[in-house]
Amino acid sequence: KSGYVGPEYMVFACADSRVCPSVTLGLEPGEAFTIRNIANMVPSYCKNKYAGVGSAIEYAVCALKVEVIVVIGHSRCGGIKALLSLKDGADDSFHFVEDWVRIGFPAKKKVQTECASMPFDDQCTVLEKEAVNVSLQNLLTYPFVKEGVSNGTLKLVGGHYDFVSGKFETWEQ
Ligand SMILES: [Zn+2]
Repeated sequence: KSGYVGPEYMVFACADSRVCPSVTLGLEPGEAFTIRNIANMVPSYCKNKYAGVGSAIEYAVCALKVEVIVVIGHSRCGGIKALLSLKDGADDSFHFVEDWVRIGFPAKKKVQTECASMPFDDQCTVLEKEAVNVSLQNLLTYPFVKEGVSNGTLKLVGGHYDFVSGKFETWEQ
């Protein structure tokens, strides 16, 4: 390839200091437009609440024309643990954190229904992956993402990185 044409990937990863998406994916500078936040959440389209995330997705898809959006969850994620620990109806103790991780609420309900007999830590592991699936669904609420996926110019990929075992898995929805 001659000449730099911009990043091929957009990556959502957790802000957790133990996981670095460039290292996990083996990416060089210039290859991935990256957003990191608590529990690597992609909220659904909302101009008022989530302009920071929305503008990044819009810029990546419409201006940089990335070809793949990857959402990567990880093992022992504190944000996912917080989501699973939230009690229905209890007051929040942070200004922002609980409300943010509630983006993954549909995944939490699924895990609590389908994995009720599992120990808490195992439920967290399942939730780390199911929350990624919710984010992949939420990506489709952005019209430019939906259009790219329909046209076949954009691919959405989920991932999970276990930083203890070193295992990294990806899947397409
Ligand atoms: Zn995390």
